[in-house]
Amino acid sequence: MNIYINRVLNLKKIKAIGMDMDHTLVRYHVKEFEELTYHVVLNKLVASGCYPKEILDLSFDFNKAILGLAIDKKHGNLIKLSRYGKVKAGYHGNKALEFSEQKKLYENREIDLSGPDIDTLDTSFSLSHGVLFANLVEFINENKITEISYSKIADDIKKAVDIAHRDGTLKNEVRKNLKKYIIQDKDTPRMLEQFKQYGKKLLVITNSDYSYTKLLLDFTINPFLSEHKSWEELFEITVVFTMKPRFFTDRSRFLKIDPDTGMMSNYDSKLVPGIYQGGNAETLQDDLGLEGSEILYLGDHIFGDILKLKKNCNWRTALVLSPLEDDLIGLKKSITVQKDINELMIKKDSIEKELIEIYSSKNSNDVNDKKDALYKKLEKINSSIGKKIEEYQSHFNPYWGELMRAGQEESRLAGQVEKYACIYMCKLSDLMNCSPKTYFRPKKRMMAHEFDLD
Ligand code: IMP
Ligand code: MG
Repeated sequence: MNIYINRVLNLKKIKAIGMDMDHTLVRYHVKEFEELTYHVVLNKLVASGCYPKEILDLSFDFNKAILGLAIDKKHGNLIKLSRYGKVKAGYHGNKALEFSEQKKLYENREIDLSGPDIDTLDTSFSLSHGVLFANLVEFINENKITEISYSKIADDIKKAVDIAHRDGTLKNEVRKNLKKYIIQDKDTPRMLEQFKQYGKKLLVITNSDYSYTKLLLDFTINPFLSEHKSWEELFEITVVFTMKPRFFTDRSRFLKIDPDTGMMSNYDSKLVPGIYQGGNAETLQDDLGLEGSEILYLGDHIFGDILKLKKNCNWRTALVLSPLEDDLIGLKKSITVQKDINELMIKKDSIEKELIEIYSSKNSNDVNDKKDALYKKLEKINSSIGKKIEEYQSHFNPYWGELMRAGQEESRLAGQVEKYACIYMCKLSDLMNCSPKTYFRPKKRMMAHEFDLD
């Protein structure tokens, strides 16, 4: 797999590589984990007494939500936005929003994502949230339950997901069945050992607690190391429970963790190799004696890991975007049909030009037959384009299409990736074949006016 480049990045200048853990350094079987979250949350909602037990029968369809969607809590819709904040597709429960309805609700205005009526699905951990919202909206509509508002559903799900992550329900299940939920990818430890051999310092910066971090790193890193005894030796500094994005903005203190007992103690000295909790990016950078531009940070959460970091520190950024893998498969499979669509669009363009010429000529009324023939051709082409577009879309998510596009435009997620991630990739081990001196150079991006020069 490739590394995709938005901005110049010279690995030679990078002296430390910091990594988020969940969904970055450690990959999950996302569908299985989100399905687990889905059922745990439904149970919590029923236990709260606010929802009937029949919701437990609602089935989980992983495709119903993708990264980057937003929840419109007021109208009960899941919406897909373009990079300009315009709604391009939506679902109300199981029903796709008709174009006219979409237009009526959202007009053509930019959606304010920071508003109280909007939640966004920005990490793989939030996909179950999207599926739960769609299913519960459908459920209360079907059953005409008027006392539960769409907004309440969204808030209740968010709270229950949050609790499920914090009270040990999910983590205990993972602990019992590591193989079901966590991917062991031997390339990742190998790649990390290579980078360490080249003199790069390796750091882990995770929001997970120490015991969960140890569980996952013991499982995914230790069995595949050849030059180190354990991950504790591989990583120079591991910081757990960092409260990102606050780690990048605040000045919280570090606590030192004793790896043998897991006990914590206050720590105010200069950081030395070891395991810590809390802390902040500024102290970490100072104690490593590095410039911000000498640290590359890899994360999966565009908001918690990347956007805040980019706005507050000048570390270099890399986004690990695992669902991009499905988009890439779809894009490869649809190369031929995309070519067909492009050719049909060229034909359509030329017929439309011919029609404009006819209408602007003085004797346009004398050539009605010609106009009719052209309109018939246009109709045929439009119908062929429609069919080809359907074929094209069949290669992507059945509800939402491409991850990185919203219609013809780039999706909100794609816009954020381009703006905040210097490079991006499907998985961390895609860096495997990069030499420590790789100079990542972006391709020149074409602008609208540059396509039409001849
Ligand atoms: P990171 O990706 O390594 O920084 O850590 C993610 C951690 O955040 C994992 O331990 C998750 O269980 C936890 N997490 C994910 N979503 C939520 C949430 O909504 N509330 C609380 N914790 C969460
Ligand atoms: Mg993560």
